[in-house]
Amino acid sequence: MKNVINYGEKGIVFNIQRFSVNDGPGIRTIVFLKGCPLRCKWCSNPESQSYSRELMFNSKNCIGCGKCKRVCKRGAIDYSSPYRVDRNKCVNCGNCAKVCYPGALVMSGEEKTVREVVSELKKDSIQFRRSGGGVTLSGGDPLTQPEFSLELLKACKSMGWSTAVETEAYVPADTIESVIPWVDVVLLDIKNIDTDKYLRYTGVNNDIILKNVKRISELGVRTITRVPVIPKFNADEKSIGKIAEFTRSLGTVDELHLLPYHKLGVNKYKCLGRKYELENMETPDREYMEKFKKIVESYGLKCNVGAR
Ligand code: SF4
Ligand code: SF4
Repeated sequence: MKNVINYGEKGIVFNIQRFSVNDGPGIRTIVFLKGCPLRCKWCSNPESQSYSRELMFNSKNCIGCGKCKRVCKRGAIDYSSPYRVDRNKCVNCGNCAKVCYPGALVMSGEEKTVREVVSELKKDSIQFRRSGGGVTLSGGDPLTQPEFSLELLKACKSMGWSTAVETEAYVPADTIESVIPWVDVVLLDIKNIDTDKYLRYTGVNNDIILKNVKRISELGVRTITRVPVIPKFNADEKSIGKIAEFTRSLGTVDELHLLPYHKLGVNKYKCLGRKYELENMETPDREYMEKFKKIVESYGLKCNVGAR
């Protein structure tokens, strides 16, 4: 493995979140990277999907000062629209966000070097040591920024921190081969085994994903399967059973987490000027989740019903 670290490598990060206990062992800091090839209808981080910086507008914070309209050279600020920003005209330059002091307009995503992110993460190193935690890369899918993720993971390992990556595995096999050797735990999203449903609800085919999942399991890295439980998509005994059976068949994965559907990200769609398609979807209740947990356990897997 090549050990030289390129601390100047740049990536687009949209959040760094501390004190997570759901995203790998111990207490962890999550670095959220922009970019995802999937378009899951239930995504609670829609600002993560685009690979570029993106303007968000939250009407609750707007005081109507008009500064945004004065600085926008594209004429993209539209007071008559509930979304405020005309996305056909906006080029995400960020000028309006710079003058919006109440924070109604904010840019999601910032270019950062590996050095800058590591310097931020160093603030948590005592906590990593005490709790057995570390750094988790999430997104989006961090493997869609492969060079940045690789250098950041190498830097984290050089600090002695535990590393985890959350991925959908919809990436070229080469990326898996290069990045996974620097990862202690893979949090692997397997959403459905049914190819048609996968395509209908996420916009991509799961063939590549299932192949990559097998490759990850062959590489011998500790892997936890994570399944978002979504009504009409996979919240039924047959779908959960098939995912558990597939996970068991890998031979190297003994843990599966079920993540019940929630609506925490719905307002972000409005902030991005987008429509949320699952408006009337209900969160699966506790009884259902317990039933699914038992199905997973019947395949000899440890199962948690978790958040996120
Ligand atoms: S600058 Fe911000 S607070 Fe002022 S009108 Fe524009 S969005 Fe509202
Ligand atoms: S990001 Fe730039 S183009 Fe878009 S609304 Fe703001 S100032 Fe106008």
